[in-house]
This record gives sequence, structure tokens and C-alpha cells, in this order.
Amino acid sequence: MRARLDHLVVSALQQGAAVPAFTCYDFTTALAVVEAAEEAGRGAILLVAPKTAATPNGLRLITALRGLADAASVPVAVQLDHASDLRVIADAVAAGADSVLADGSSLPYEENIALVREARAVLAAQGHADVVIEAELGGLAGDEDRAFGADATGSSAQGTAGLTDSAQVEYFIARTGAQLLAVAVGNVHGKYKGEPQLRWDVLQDIAVRTHIPLVLHGASGIPAEELVKAAAMNVGKVNFNTELRTGVLATLEAQTGSYRADGENLQGLLGTWNASAKGFAAGALSTLTR
Ligand SMILES: [Zn+2]
Repeated sequence: MRARLDHLVVSALQQGAAVPAFTCYDFTTALAVVEAAEEAGRGAILLVAPKTAATPNGLRLITALRGLADAASVPVAVQLDHASDLRVIADAVAAGADSVLADGSSLPYEENIALVREARAVLAAQGHADVVIEAELGGLAGDEDRAFGADATGSSAQGTAGLTDSAQVEYFIARTGAQLLAVAVGNVHGKYKGEPQLRWDVLQDIAVRTHIPLVLHGASGIPAEELVKAAAMNVGKVNFNTELRTGVLATLEAQTGSYRADGENLQGLLGTWNASAKGFAAGALSTLTR
């Protein structure tokens, strides 16, 4: 069923839980996520990468996800992830996204604020003032769509320079009007080098400065016993991508030969893709509601 992303997240936080968000490059994965959410009786978020949304077929995928979300028996939101191009933001919302991460985190502070405000203005001018906007403050290392190369030592100059500055949080939220805030607290996109070193102290500093829900990106690789602490720090949305891909690719690599031998049984292979993605989503849903 259709759900405002901010309402979904706030209601989860009120129950001491967080809502998982999963990058969907394709419809098979999205079907698996929604099935897992329905079986768990919990809401979930379908994320669309900006590179996906920048193509005509990607916009069609968003429209398909919109239909899937609306038909689900649990609340499901469709969010455009990490977008800084106003045209892509406008197109994705017109195609059916109900939420956007207007990501100016790689820009200087005031330009980051300006981007979020421009995104809001563009959407309002299109009659989409109700779209939920997440903003990001602080820089996340790593690449959202590629697993390797992230520096997550936390102790390097690069690792600490990107942390969200908690002193900027109140002003940033007041100026942007963002309804959720993505933070950089030692989390990274892609695979972590060594053990993730989440800065719970920084997260705590941020959490006491705002009442809007916080968002943790790059949750793949963060142990479940760490993730369960998130909701207590007002982290109401947790984004997963890398681990989901790792699982699906490993499954396809292991199973393709036997399904090829079985009469080139693509339907069967897609079934194992579904099972892998669904199992991962079910695990994330369970961890975040513990
Ligand atoms: Zn992200």
C-alpha cells in the first residue's frame, strides 16, 4: 500500500524499529523485497539508483515499482536515491517515486542547502509538494553501485573529514526543510576495509540536535548487533545494497550451470535470484525490528 516514507519511518521509530531500504536495479529483486516485507508484516522502501532513473527504461522501472508498492499488503515507499540532477529528480517523481534523496553532500555546505531547496521548489512547481525529501550532510566514502575501493578505516584523513558535523545539523535542517537526514558516521558505500568503525558518539551528537529521523547508508557489512542499536539513536531508515548484490551474484554464479543444463531454465534461475534477495531482505527486516 502507498505510504509516505517519513510517516513509515516515524511510526517504526515509535515502535523502536527502523525501516530497511533496498536498492532495486531490476524488478525481480523488488518483487523479492516486497514479498519479504509482506511475510514479515513490516513496511519497506524500494530504492532506485540515480543512474537507473536517468534512463527511459529506468523511469519505466520506477513506474513498475510504484504499481508494485501500491499493490503490496504492507506500506512500501519508492525512493530515488542519491540524486543531484534536478531533471532526474523531476522525472523520477513524475514516473512514480514518492521520495527523493536530494544529495548535495559532495558540494560545499551552502550549495548543499541550495540544492535541496531547489529540488523542493522544482517538485512544488510540478504539483509534487508532498514528495518526501531526504538530504545528506557529510561525505560517505565509496561508490553506491560498485562494491570495491571504499576506504573505511575511519582513522585516515579522508575517513574522518567526511563525518557529519553535528554543529551544522540544526541550521541545515531548518534551511532545507528536509524530512530525513542521511549522516556520515563512519559508514561507507561498498565493502568495508576491515571492521566497520561506526562513530556512535557522533551519531549521538547528531541525534540530540534534531527530531527528524536519521538515515544510515552503507549498512552492508555492519554487524547485526551494531545495527540493532540504530533505532535508539533515531536512525529510522537503513539502506542496504552491496550485500544484497553479493548474495544474488553468488547465487547466480553457483546455479547458472545447472539451470542451463536443465533445458536453459531461466525461470528456475530467476527463482533462485528471488530466493536470495528475499532471504536477505527478510534478515534485514528482522534485524531492524529486534
Ligand atoms: Zn547511499
